[in-house]
Amino acid sequence: MEIKYADRVDSIKPSAIRELLKLTQQPGVISFAGGLPAPESFPIEEMKRISVKVLEEQGRSALQYSTTEGYQPLREFIAKRMNKSGIDIKSDQILITNGSQQGLDFSGKLFINEGDVVICESPSYVGALNAFRAYMPKFVEVPMDDEGMKIDDLEKALIENPKTKFIYVVPTFQNPTGRTMSIERRKQLIQLACEYNVPIIEDNPYGELKFGDEEIPPVKHFDTAGIVIYLGTFSKTFCPGLRIGWVAASPDIVRKYVLAKQGADLQTNTMSQIELAKFIELYDFDEHVERVRNIYRNRRDAMLNAMKEEFPASIKYTYPDGGMFTWVELPKGIDAADILKKSLECKVAFVPGSSFYPNGGNENHFRLNYGTMSEDLIAEGIKRLGKVLRAL
Ligand code: PMP
Repeated sequence: MEIKYADRVDSIKPSAIRELLKLTQQPGVISFAGGLPAPESFPIEEMKRISVKVLEEQGRSALQYSTTEGYQPLREFIAKRMNKSGIDIKSDQILITNGSQQGLDFSGKLFINEGDVVICESPSYVGALNAFRAYMPKFVEVPMDDEGMKIDDLEKALIENPKTKFIYVVPTFQNPTGRTMSIERRKQLIQLACEYNVPIIEDNPYGELKFGDEEIPPVKHFDTAGIVIYLGTFSKTFCPGLRIGWVAASPDIVRKYVLAKQGADLQTNTMSQIELAKFIELYDFDEHVERVRNIYRNRRDAMLNAMKEEFPASIKYTYPDGGMFTWVELPKGIDAADILKKSLECKVAFVPGSSFYPNGGNENHFRLNYGTMSEDLIAEGIKRLGKVLRAL
């Protein structure tokens, strides 16, 4: 029997790199490949106690259906935390989602008709590209430099593409490059979005994982027109397994996301939401985030110091001030997928860069995640990778 899938299914293809990445999961591989948070940062003992407490005290409601919008104490905590980062938002403008990944999928569902244009950074987060791809858009990539998306090129893209439905950005400690958009560009981005009447989707999973003292307000902070749809998550500051993220936007936009969620899964896991709210009630969340930051800061230092020692001078890379990633540029003509094959022979893995470019090309880049491995393994892995690169 021939099964007839929807046309959009053809646009979601497994990439060749995915096959290669399966090899990275072999035992003994030092992996800088996945986007996994540091498991040592998960508050396991606290969560053991909390699970029992929640079931004892609120068992019936914790195991019951709950509202689509989300658990009210959690929405209030999120709104207050966003207020602290300079965003004017109220709890009824927050929808709790099943990770920010669900917010990305809903963004595709709510905005993209086949053939519409999505403008994104070049490169961009591959999980967002895949979520949007299911709705069959055309991707227009805007080049970046160390200050993020280049604004002149963004304006050109907006002029050339009147069918643009939204601009997708990860402005702070971006996945995959680790870059952060400058404050000046954040303001210009908002200005252009207003001028061309195109919403911005600001995906900000890494903003709280900052290593320095410099305050970089989210793009949403500069938004007085209600044109920014903000996606947040507890996956990196707390843990990804609970699957708790959120959408924060103006009330009319949030209402549309609520409708999308009703059709998708009715609500986010009640138990997870109550457990997280209980953690926040009983422990100091700021202190917890500070601990997580320290882990990543030390690992960033371990990786970047080792890269300075071990990588040949012809190879460029970014120096992230937060988050989990650094982005490596090889000399033109060298394919990172070939380097991955060689580095896997010495049991070191990373993700080749081409899949982060929705329209392909740019094979001479790759992404390193310093978040998952211990400092010793980072040093050893970079030493081995340096050997492969010096032999080029
Ligand atoms: N956006 C970006 C930029 C990410 O890196 C990730 C996780 N890798 C997500 C969204 C999704 O995260 P989650 O669904 O766990 O909140």
